[in-house]
Amino acid sequence: MINIQFAALPDRWDKYRDPLLKAFEDADLKVDLRQDHQPSDVDYVVYAPNSELQDFTPYTRCKAVLNLWAGVETITGNQTLTQPLCRMVDPGLTQGMVEWVVAHTLRYHLDIDHWISHQTGAWSPMCPPLATQRHVTVLGLGVLGTACAKALAGLGFHVTGWARRPKTIDGITCVHGEGGIAQALEQAEIVILLLPDTPVTTNVLNAERLAQMPKGARIINPGRGPLIDDDALLAALNSGQIAHATLDVFRIEPLPVDHPYWGHPNVTVTPHIAAETRAVTAAQVIAENVKRGETGLPFLHLVDREAGY
Ligand code: NAP
Repeated sequence: MINIQFAALPDRWDKYRDPLLKAFEDADLKVDLRQDHQPSDVDYVVYAPNSELQDFTPYTRCKAVLNLWAGVETITGNQTLTQPLCRMVDPGLTQGMVEWVVAHTLRYHLDIDHWISHQTGAWSPMCPPLATQRHVTVLGLGVLGTACAKALAGLGFHVTGWARRPKTIDGITCVHGEGGIAQALEQAEIVILLLPDTPVTTNVLNAERLAQMPKGARIINPGRGPLIDDDALLAALNSGQIAHATLDVFRIEPLPVDHPYWGHPNVTVTPHIAAETRAVTAAQVIAENVKRGETGLPFLHLVDREAGY
């Protein structure tokens, strides 16, 4: 019997219990899945970083901590978490992110807000350009950035992607490192941030980089709040350097009611809903990793603690 501790906020148990049990059964794994194992009996922890469990010291025989979230910035610094840590790569979450990013990109591309707010009776045709005439940049070419970049390239956009290391992706202009970001930004009419929050990516969009973008560019941030220097973005929005920003993630969540983003005419705030882990598909990923752990195969989606993602 494999003892699996489920450590997440209480309402998650109802959502994940049955999909997890089904996925373990499908994977032919005999498990005892509970929220109340003795820590020293636990083989694997299925984990949400906002759960009560923060001290992993008593989990002496735990072979891996399997995160339910894609982002790991709140746990990479936990010194008690010495077990292998796997982040969530879930096809359902990825699909959700692609849909959200494509929708907001098309909103900007087709200037949909203009038509929604101009129901005045004035017949003033203004045909938008085609995607093939539009440059879009995706900062971050990991699981989510690559999926979004490919979907946008599939629609015909000129897509440039920026990552830490060199990459080759069909149909995408890939640039990397410090030298690559200026190239990624200089033609970017729409910039999508899908980077992790690490000490190196903090304020990656700062005043200098916002100024490198074409005047009137738009920003879509479903990555993490600290990727953007908020004061610099507000200044760029107020000067017109940046025409509009759609922000799903913030330094403080929920976004405080008195934050200038709320009510700013050129900002759309969404409450961290771009892409959620989907229980059924995520459960299959967790079962696959437990199976790997039990058969001596390397875990999938291991976090590189040094890089922070
Ligand atoms: P991932 O697969 O780990 O990809 C991260 C990407 O960022 C990689 O391409 C990586 O480059 C790049 N990167 C990291 N540090 C960099 C640096 N210093 N300079 C340039 N590029 C750098 O992550 P993912 O699954 O795509 O997820 C991305 C982020 O989305 C998550 O970390 C999370 O914060 C966010 N997210 C948000 C939601 C939401 O609902 N809003 C949902 C899920 C995830 P390499 O490829 O060279 O390593």
